[in-house]
Amino acid sequence: MEYILDHPVAVSIGTEKYKCTVEWRNGKFIADEPEFTGGKDLGPDPYTLLLSSLGSCTLATLRMYIDRKGWDIPQIAVAVNMFFKQENEKRITVIDRDLNFISAVTDEQRERLTQIARVCPVSKILEGEIEVRTFAYASEDIEKTHRYTNGDVTVEWRPELCKHAARCATQLPQVFNPGAKPWINTDGATSKEIIEQVGRCPTGALRMAK
Ligand code: SF4
Repeated sequence: MEYILDHPVAVSIGTEKYKCTVEWRNGKFIADEPEFTGGKDLGPDPYTLLLSSLGSCTLATLRMYIDRKGWDIPQIAVAVNMFFKQENEKRITVIDRDLNFISAVTDEQRERLTQIARVCPVSKILEGEIEVRTFAYASEDIEKTHRYTNGDVTVEWRPELCKHAARCATQLPQVFNPGAKPWINTDGATSKEIIEQVGRCPTGALRMAK
């Protein structure tokens, strides 16, 4: 399992309704709720963020394709909105995406670009199967750290950050074996191999002691 982002998007909220601080790899921004749901509209609401993701992914994908083709299409715009509909017992989300090429395009270009928009990475995510896994921990849990040493290097494992995706157990089973006690055997590989594997833990649950 490989996370797409090196650092997860980190969102926090205090007591001010409903101002959220969203931290991403290169900065921060505010998300909020509109006034009619009790927020102050200080930033985009969650639905807007979701649709922005689709809109910006669509345009970046189209721009890459247009540039590769060498087509003269200097500007593209997209408007995205959504609604819910009920079909029998099922609630279905319908997202409408309107592409506007602004300048003139041929029928062939329009058709091709529409196809490309449909397969942009975020489209594929939204139209594929999604599983949302939720893990919960409190800050004091993060402080719980187990240490395993071979005398040369010491591995630290913070169980509450471990998503049990088993990358370590799959890639270096002679060291990381969830069925054994202790589950980390630092004598099972060289210090170099252990350091490399610890660096591949996607959640930060594993780290080398300083
Ligand atoms: S320690 Fe890291 S790599 Fe190993 S199972 Fe937990 S999250 Fe995955």
